[in-house]
Formats: sequence, C-alpha cells, structure tokens
Amino acid sequence: MKVAVLAGGVGGARLSHGLYRIHPRDLTVIVNTGDDFQLHGLSISPDLDTVLYTLAEWADSVQGWGLSGDTRRCAEQLARLGGETWFQLGDLDLATHLYRTQRLGQGATLTKVTEELARSAGLQLRLLPMCDAPVPTKLRLASGWVDFQDYFVRRQHADPVLECRYQGADQTPPGPEVVKALTEAERIVLAPSNPFLSLQPIFSLQGFAELWAGCRARKVAVSPMIGEAAVKGPLASLLASLGQPVNSLGVARLLKDWIDVLILDEGDAHLIPEIEKCGVRTVCTLTLMKTDSDRERLARVALDV
Ligand code: GDP
Ligand code: CA
Repeated sequence: MKVAVLAGGVGGARLSHGLYRIHPRDLTVIVNTGDDFQLHGLSISPDLDTVLYTLAEWADSVQGWGLSGDTRRCAEQLARLGGETWFQLGDLDLATHLYRTQRLGQGATLTKVTEELARSAGLQLRLLPMCDAPVPTKLRLASGWVDFQDYFVRRQHADPVLECRYQGADQTPPGPEVVKALTEAERIVLAPSNPFLSLQPIFSLQGFAELWAGCRARKVAVSPMIGEAAVKGPLASLLASLGQPVNSLGVARLLKDWIDVLILDEGDAHLIPEIEKCGVRTVCTLTLMKTDSDRERLARVALDV
C-alpha cells in the first residue's frame, strides 16, 4: 500500500516514525515548511529537521526535537560575542543548516536538499518539503502581525493568536513530488500535528484543494488533542483564541472538509456523536505516543482503518 503522510514537527515526527517502522516501503512524508526561517545567514527548516532526526533515530528523546547528545558551545561563544541568541542552534544541528544553506546557494531545490539529507541519514522513505518556495506563517497577536518564530520561540507562544496567515501560499504550488505522492497514495495519514501551524499551511498551497479532491486514498487523521490538552505546544490556546472547542471536536471542525476518519483518544469517546455530525467517522484508541511501540501501534491503526 502506498502511504503518504502530512506532518508538522514533533507530533508529525512521532507518527511518521511509527509508520516507518511498520511500513518502510512506499512511504512518503510531506512536511510543513511554514516555520522555515533564516538566522545567521542559515536556512533553517525546523519541522523537516525534527522529522529527519526522529526517523533517523538521532532525535533527543526528551525534548522531542534537536539531536541527542548535542551541545551548545557555538551558541555560548556567540553569546560572548554579543550575537543573537534567542534561537539556540545546537553544535551538531548546525551541520544540517550549513549543508542545507550551501546546497540551496548552489541552486538545489529544498526538495532535492531534503532528499540528500534523508539519503545520508540512511532513510528508505521519501521525505518531502510541502513546497520549494518560502511560505512563511505569520500570526496576528494583540500587538500586531509577527513572524512564526517570534511568536513561538521568542515569546514562547504565550500570546493569544487572533489570526494566522500563510504568506504567499496561494501563489506557491506543492512540489511536483508532493503532487505525485498524494495522487498515487492508497492511504493518506494526517499526523497529530497542529492544524493551524502545521496542516493549514499545506492545505493553503496553490491548487491544493483540487489536488486533494482528486486523491482516491482514504484520508485518516490522528487528533493532536487528548482531553482538553495538546500533548505539547500551543494548540489548546489557539483553539480557544480562534473560537473552537478546546478538544478533538475543535480539531474535527477544522479538518472536516479534509478527512474521512478522525482517530481520537479513548478518553474522548463522549465527543463521537458531535464529531460524526460533522460528517467525519471516528475511531477511538490510545493516542499518546510515549514509546516506539506506542508509535507503531497507532500507525497500524491509521493504516488499518
Ligand atoms: P511542532 O511543529 O513540533 O509543533 O509539531 P506538530 O505540529 O507536528 O505537532 C504538534 C502537535 O503534536 C501538538 O498539538 C501535540 O498535541 C501533538 N502531539 C505530540 N505528541 C503527540 C502524541 O504522542 N499523541 C498525539 N495524539 N498528539 C501528539
Ligand atoms: Ca513546527
């Protein structure tokens, strides 16, 4: 079965890793690049790197992002020099950004560079950015519009978000390999990624709705909400400030036009009648992925639905 996954960072990486462990062949992971930005002249793609490191089993298992055993010597020295330190890059992590920046500078596409990184990491699957041109996510806070990393890292996602914009998405088509993978897929899985910050940027790409309508695969999403909380990150506060129920019903309302089935946590079974009223079928199971076997089990549910 040909499987395509839409993923953001940590939630996307965890489920993709489970899928990769049980279904390594014919797997394509399509990753949000709305968080991408430039720092110190380097091109940084946080979600692609989280997915890459997780699939390669290089990730720091405690924080869920970054490389295990990484150090901060460069960041410390940069602080001594009075450089910008609000976004700390690990020493090992820097190698990825150096590689990517150099290859992009030579004219390679982000798709090509990502393929090279995945190959060097020994991965068998196809890892794809959602598109090749920058489509930066912008967020409107009470104080005005800010860049994604300004909200997420510098302000530690503490401010209520009033509006999200995916700048340039309507003029940027998904990459040709993304189109091919989705068109050929026999199952499309939407990882438990933040709908506003990881999935909407992908849906907003030029021509994406038409592409999606033409995909014959069943579309199965895993909810990133467990009860009234996100496993990590600002999703609960985004649902609240953007006027949705703060639970998997809110996720279902956001995704209803994009999915056939929503996998939700066992403890949220009481939401099923309201979710099914949105025209989305449901499957209940444990959705917290703590261990590799949790990831594999949830991946299997997503394939078996
Ligand atoms: P980010 O780019 O790192 O913010 O990552 P994503 O958008 O992929 O994922 C963020 C979402 O992943 C959060 O809303 C979390 O609730 C969700 N998430 C992370 N780990 C898990 C998990 O083990 N189970 C479920 N169901 N959701 C998870
Ligand atoms: Ca992200």
